[in-house]
Amino acid sequence: MAYEQNLVCFNTFGSEESWTLATYEKHDGYSAWRKVLAGEFTPEQIIDEVKASGLRGRGGAGFPTGLKWSFMPRNADVQKYLVCNSDESEPGTCHDREVLRYNPHCLVEGMAIAAYAMGATVAYNYIRGEFIDEPVPRFEAALREAYAAGLLGKNIQGSGIDVDLYAFVGAGAYICGEETALLESLEGKQGKPRFKPPFPANYGLYGQPTTINNTQSLASVPAILRNGAAWFAGLGPEGSGGTAQFSVSGHVERPGNYELPMGIPFRELLDICGGVWRGRSLKAVIPGGSSVPVMPAEAIMDCTMDYTSLQQAGSSFGTGAVMVMDDTTCMVSVLRRISRFYMAESCGQCTPCREGTGWLYRMLTRILDGEGQEDDLDKLLDVANKIEGHTICALGDAAAWPVQSFLKHFHHEFEYMIRNHGRSIVDGTRNAAA
Ligand code: SF4
Repeated sequence: MAYEQNLVCFNTFGSEESWTLATYEKHDGYSAWRKVLAGEFTPEQIIDEVKASGLRGRGGAGFPTGLKWSFMPRNADVQKYLVCNSDESEPGTCHDREVLRYNPHCLVEGMAIAAYAMGATVAYNYIRGEFIDEPVPRFEAALREAYAAGLLGKNIQGSGIDVDLYAFVGAGAYICGEETALLESLEGKQGKPRFKPPFPANYGLYGQPTTINNTQSLASVPAILRNGAAWFAGLGPEGSGGTAQFSVSGHVERPGNYELPMGIPFRELLDICGGVWRGRSLKAVIPGGSSVPVMPAEAIMDCTMDYTSLQQAGSSFGTGAVMVMDDTTCMVSVLRRISRFYMAESCGQCTPCREGTGWLYRMLTRILDGEGQEDDLDKLLDVANKIEGHTICALGDAAAWPVQSFLKHFHHEFEYMIRNHGRSIVDGTRNAAA
């Protein structure tokens, strides 16, 4: 089945310079925004259309985008903000980067429409610091082109609509992808998550009403207005409208970013990526970025890639970053690698996360070093359970879920390693490959 006909926000338009205004406009770019400027869509109509499309936040939580927009006190007589979260840092996830690199105008148009719909006259795009080489300049160039073409600014094309867009480059911290840490960072402070409530819709950037949306979510908006909510909703199954960009990494023949309909069977996604590499067997998959629960091969093979199916199977759609592991993978090594990441990225505000992530990493290291003890697995689970749900932000859960799920599905590998002084069940060696 050819999916190229329904690309929403990851279209390179063949070999043309897809990031330029000329190319984007040649392919219907800014037609939705021009209709908004011409008065063909009211803010309410836009929000209703996005609600009906079934678009859900692609940043990981999967919250319905239109509903989130409706929380904004649009008519309050105060400055309101839209913030785009391009601080993409979840391990395995690299599709927002590609939107910035190849379709920045799609994002600019989506941000302009969203800002108008929510009564925000100012919008920021918070971009991950490591994207400084190509994605940031491309997005900034797109902003310059859009301003020069009279598509942004004050009283745009005599419409009475004001929308100013700015790029902001972060300094490179996973935690700034958490929306309130992002706001703190944008205000020039340390990127540490805030206590909630109050939520950003009422008390966000500089204490003003703010909506934060993921890059891919906003970049999907122009196509929704161009083609209609029903078209977008029809691309995916009930409750998961549209397409998603799957970042497929690990042991497949053709890793990469693939924009495909929500709800595509996992088997088909694997086929598109060339299957498990080197003719090996599939062992496990992390289907939505490193924080979501790992799934053994037999649990994911019959799943479809959408929120409902993956949740029912015990994991989550997350960011759509699919990490594939073949039968030579040592799951203890993988878990230690993941745990090290969350230990390093903890902002340190809350004790369960700050101390617990270090405990997890050190215990896993001890097991890999051949010094594991019989009760270490109970202790690992105990620490993970004490982190989960006891922290200010979701990083604590993100550190706990992999531990819980790896131990649930691959307990025997951990046991084997402890009993055999650091040797892996996979190939009998110490320090087996992750
Ligand atoms: Fe910081 Fe971790 Fe607490 Fe989040 S859970 S606020 S990252 S210490």
